[in-house]
Amino acid sequence: MSIYLFNTLSRRIEEFKSIKKNKVGLYTCGPTVYNHAHIGNLRTYVFEDVLKRSLQYNDFKIKHVMNITDVGHLTDDADTGEDKMEKGSAREGKTAWELAEFYTHEFRLDLERLNIIEPAIWCRATDHIKDQINLIKKLEKKGFTYATSDGVYFDTSKLKDYGKLANLQNQELRAGVRVDVGDKKNTTDFALWKFSPKLQKRQMEWKSPWGVGFPGWHIECSAMATKYLGKTFDIHCGGVDHIPVHHTNEIAQSEAAYDEPLANYWMHGEFLLMGSDKMAKSGDNFVTLRTLTEKEISPLAYRFLLLQTHYRKQLTFSWEALNAAQTGLTHLYNAAKKLKTKKEILSNIDQKKNDEENEIKNKFKEFISDDLNISSALGLVWDAIKNDKISRETLLEFDQIFGLKIKEELEKKPEPISELIIPKEIADLVTKRDEARQNKEWNISDELRLKLEAAGYKVLDTKDGTQLTK
Ligand code: AMP
Ligand code: ZN
Repeated sequence: MSIYLFNTLSRRIEEFKSIKKNKVGLYTCGPTVYNHAHIGNLRTYVFEDVLKRSLQYNDFKIKHVMNITDVGHLTDDADTGEDKMEKGSAREGKTAWELAEFYTHEFRLDLERLNIIEPAIWCRATDHIKDQINLIKKLEKKGFTYATSDGVYFDTSKLKDYGKLANLQNQELRAGVRVDVGDKKNTTDFALWKFSPKLQKRQMEWKSPWGVGFPGWHIECSAMATKYLGKTFDIHCGGVDHIPVHHTNEIAQSEAAYDEPLANYWMHGEFLLMGSDKMAKSGDNFVTLRTLTEKEISPLAYRFLLLQTHYRKQLTFSWEALNAAQTGLTHLYNAAKKLKTKKEILSNIDQKKNDEENEIKNKFKEFISDDLNISSALGLVWDAIKNDKISRETLLEFDQIFGLKIKEELEKKPEPISELIIPKEIADLVTKRDEARQNKEWNISDELRLKLEAAGYKVLDTKDGTQLTK
């Protein structure tokens, strides 16, 4: 069956055709690791996970690359402002390197909690400075760069189709925009390399042919995507905010350097909103997975909530909707337990039922192949469960896309803590974890959570402290 995806580049739904048969090169822009990911960021990663699972379900083998932005992302997209990492380092009294390591670890834990399949390749911007310098040198040789007092810039006027992803009209952008361009030639020009400030020593800086400094945010993705996936690969993803600046500039640099498209399909997840605002890492509408678990809401309930809205529609967050999703997920788990197994169905020699089930499978595949219409797939599955039309095995097959850990739930025999006999070493870990949480030592408490989980316990954060179930 063909799979159809919305391509931001053409602004229409296209049949997906991979460069290599049954293989997909996928690059998804990763987090800037100066703080926890908020649940808005995580919406984008869940969308990308569902995309990946849907392609896998359609027999594609995926090579997934995700970067870690640990340098160069400034507080202002127009190449001014502070480096988010250096700013975060001052805020938390950690070095920028420690900060990056801590929040990278936290981010990976968040992905695990949301049952997001990890990328095959993680790449840190600071591990690829040489690749970025080489790409800038290539652009310099081809005449696309110029230097100012604070860095080396990409001259966007040299590209005829700059801004095609966002449908930006160059002329409109260059004329009549009241933005302080500083020494830049055009408003849309962007930094490839920034010089370290003269009177201030940065924690993260490197020598380059142009002077000591650090790479711009966009060049890291272009350099690493090409290094791991080739000059042209299949799909590039991110949140919608990346369309007009970050992805537009990635395309500009890469296509100027290699005269080939960077990616054939560009896909973008819509925003999670808090009221009428977008959720942002600064500001008081900052909700993380930790906020949810403190309210005894499981990360998978959040995942379930996200599956109910199409990735190209905005979603306004509310606690009511999240609580309803938690209840809905419990219903789904309970209903799964009541479904008959294939063996039970076949022993009744119910051929009609078997045909019906195959029909549902085909419909399911149709929905997910229609630009990831997961909410309709969920509706279909609910209906099939209610009317006892599918086997347990089929539901588990569908959960390869939903990622709601239904199999784990079926295999689990829950026991309340009062009935559990907890060995002393486990009880000690619980005490240590509660102490760490009281002291807000989240990295220690997360390490201890992993230890408890590795010992076979489910860890619940409640207002009375850590609680365990099996
Ligand atoms: P950052 O860590 O800020 O670089 O962002 C990580 C990812 O989250 C990017 O793909 C952004 O486009 C995406 N993102 C940022 N804010 C939101 C939001 N409110 N809703 C959905 N995705 C978001
Ligand atoms: Zn990127």
